[in-house]
Amino acid sequence: MRTEFKNEAFTNFKEEPGNLAYDAALRQVEAELGRSYPLVVGGARIDTARKATSVNPARHGQVVGIVAQADLELAERAIAAAAAAFETWQRVDPQERARYLYRAAAMLRRRKHEFSAWMTLEAGKTRAEADADTAEAIDFMEFYAREMQRLALPQPLTPSAEEENHLYYAPLGVGVVIPPWNFPLAIVAGMTCAAIVCGNAVVLKPASPTPVIAAKFVELLEQAGLPPGVVNFLPGPGGEVGDALVDHPLTRFVSFTGSRDVGLRINERAAKTQPGQRWIKRVVLEMGGKDAIVVDADADADQAADAIVAAAFGFSGQKCSACSRAIVHQDIYEAVLDKVVERTRKLVVGDPADRATDVGPVVDDKAYRKILDYIEIGKREGRLVLGGGSRDPGGWFVEPTIFADVDPKARISQEEIFGPVVAFTKAGSFEEALRIANDTDYGLTGAVISNDRAHLELARREFFAGNLYLNRKCTGALVGTHPFGGFNMSGTDSKAGGRDYLLLFMQAKVVSERF
Ligand code: GLU
Repeated sequence: MRTEFKNEAFTNFKEEPGNLAYDAALRQVEAELGRSYPLVVGGARIDTARKATSVNPARHGQVVGIVAQADLELAERAIAAAAAAFETWQRVDPQERARYLYRAAAMLRRRKHEFSAWMTLEAGKTRAEADADTAEAIDFMEFYAREMQRLALPQPLTPSAEEENHLYYAPLGVGVVIPPWNFPLAIVAGMTCAAIVCGNAVVLKPASPTPVIAAKFVELLEQAGLPPGVVNFLPGPGGEVGDALVDHPLTRFVSFTGSRDVGLRINERAAKTQPGQRWIKRVVLEMGGKDAIVVDADADADQAADAIVAAAFGFSGQKCSACSRAIVHQDIYEAVLDKVVERTRKLVVGDPADRATDVGPVVDDKAYRKILDYIEIGKREGRLVLGGGSRDPGGWFVEPTIFADVDPKARISQEEIFGPVVAFTKAGSFEEALRIANDTDYGLTGAVISNDRAHLELARREFFAGNLYLNRKCTGALVGTHPFGGFNMSGTDSKAGGRDYLLLFMQAKVVSERF
């Protein structure tokens, strides 16, 4: 038996050894920039004429890698390869399937700074954010491996005098895994490994801004000995390749994390039965958020400001859990706003490879332009207190931006920006603050900073969010500790990193025998 699951420790970057090891990993990865990455279908490496170039968001002249791009014919081949692999993989003992994950997790742990350095260079993550991403990837593999072993045990049923009854969890079949770019290792590893440890075979279509780190992860699974075809790596344009994978009659389930628009599109397409399709496709969706931190009249303003700054500006606000609304009781509003501004002013915006950097770039040109457009909208909807501009034109840098006195119905209070922008709204009472917090299409994370027991209990009941945090920030969910997923337009509340998650990728079969 393995030891009990424990979250992977983060590297301490306040000390020299962590930084020196990270610097060495950055140099190693820099020497590997610009290489080519083929598709991997049924274990075969396939190059294509069409390519995409992945660049460093902090220095977009720097090429991270050149990545082959699938088309419809290759999508078809990838599904066929997964379907073929499923025939044998589904029959592999769940204990053995779990051991591939333990092996991959151990290998990743030994190479963790290298993988994190790829994220610094391809996704613009600061060293602490990248390190947490790698730790979470290890956690997902360690956790889901144990979960599969637990679910492979005899499951509790009401005993019957006449029969022997067993409930077995069986895999579903071919899955399409479409992860986001914002946790380009953790969520890629989590979504992929959850699906395969259950006995499914998948086609993994990485997010367009971060295909190289995904390719590195697929390579790691190969090095861990995973049989060919269990994970097929298929980068390509979402509209074309993504749709074809979702529509395919052999696709049994789709696991998606990303924007609301794409998630809803997948949901609609997957609902349509294709000729020859023998099942109802299962869809697991993790989408956006418009997450609020509510600050009560009696709260500690310093504690509130720390939570808001960390949750709004960590990884440039590019988390679906990020705090994009601060809803503050009028009695403490100016004090909290002042403290948030004062702390934000001190954040160092710059190249995430530098030790001193707190906030790196946003991921690509599309994100950059979208965020700057929202900042223009914000200037009409609220009072710009800090930021609002961009920085070094060689990278996609957006200043941490704070708007005050924003109406709860304003666009910047309602629409997901996915950048370093926070809107402050004043509330007349705690109840009003909660109402404002709940008044969005989303329901992913939320936080309340308060010393009032009745208010905390009220929030516990009435704050409509999949992950509610009391007296702490609303980002940084840990595998096993904070199963993660949201309500309403935030998705299907799949609770990644929780004990219900693997059931989404299996179906239960009950066998009853009379002797
Ligand atoms: N699990 C992450 C957190 O708690 C957010 C995941 C996401 O942005 O998709 O911060």
